[in-house]
Amino acid sequence: MPASAPVLSVVVPMLDEADVLPLFIERLRPVLDGLGEAYELVAVDDGSRDATPVLLQAARRTWPELRVLRLRANAGHQAAISAGLAAARGAWVVTLDADLQDPPEIIPDMLRAARAEEADVVYGVRTDRSSDSAFKRRSARAFYGLMRAMGAKDAPDNAGDYRLMSRATVDAVNALPEDHRVLRLVVPALGFPSTTVGYVREQRAAGASKYPLARMVRLSVDAVTGFSSAPLRLATWFGLGGFVLAVVLLGYALVAKIVGHTVAGWTSTVVIVAAFGAIQLLCLGVLGEYVGRIYATLQRRPTYYVAHDSLRDSSPAPADA
Ligand code: UDP
Ligand code: MG
Repeated sequence: MPASAPVLSVVVPMLDEADVLPLFIERLRPVLDGLGEAYELVAVDDGSRDATPVLLQAARRTWPELRVLRLRANAGHQAAISAGLAAARGAWVVTLDADLQDPPEIIPDMLRAARAEEADVVYGVRTDRSSDSAFKRRSARAFYGLMRAMGAKDAPDNAGDYRLMSRATVDAVNALPEDHRVLRLVVPALGFPSTTVGYVREQRAAGASKYPLARMVRLSVDAVTGFSSAPLRLATWFGLGGFVLAVVLLGYALVAKIVGHTVAGWTSTVVIVAAFGAIQLLCLGVLGEYVGRIYATLQRRPTYYVAHDSLRDSSPAPADA
């Protein structure tokens, strides 16, 4: 490990990736060694329970540039990347997945593009997603459409978390106070000059996806509440609409009483109660999302804990024991 800061840091979040790790290393290492520049690979072990930490420690014996950051518990994909970004020392930092869906071979192209076009950010853009499931593609399209409708106009289409960032960009990301940030929206919003490099999204080389539906929904909710207060305004409109409706109904009830139609309809009562219940619940849900965010931010509780950094701690990692 070079004592001075490397030119490039490669940040890779990993959760239970033992199946794909040997393949990943086999493809990544020649690319990085071939750069002809000092680099570090920051492998963020996001609380894996399989052989991932053991394989990483073994790889470190023959790969001095490999640095292992072990999180105490599973913090999630975005938090794991954030941990890696905070630890990375490179003048440039690239983040990519461990499952080889992001081909490491375009890293040199990204560096070249950044330097040639004087860009601070280079997005890896998926030109072909035919290897992703139809559901994944459709939900991704809906996600980006929703984000654009919310005002995230700068977020490039079909860009995931495969991107190269300059030191200035990474410092800006690290300085953001917000927790549960969705990097693919936060980074474009910072407004650094950017460019793109296209690539074909490949199949996950081995192992299973660590992104079940619940996590995808979580990411979307974080994306929406983290980026825009539009849902909060929507809640206000629902509230206003409900209020107008209530006034009209009140007037109707008074007129009905005066005219003599005093037999209240059971159906209409049920419908009104249900409708208002629905509107209120919806608004409460939206409010809850934001209040939850405010709460989490005020607590300033870290979204990840670094248990071990092979660069800083000379003692063996827990996995070695
Ligand atoms: N990942 C992680 N923590 C998690 C979930 C995923 O570090 O809680 C990593 C995972 O090891 C992989 C990357 O994030 O390197 C993307 O996950 P995956 O490939 O399973 O997601 P998908 O491509 O299916 O959306
Ligand atoms: Mg994947």
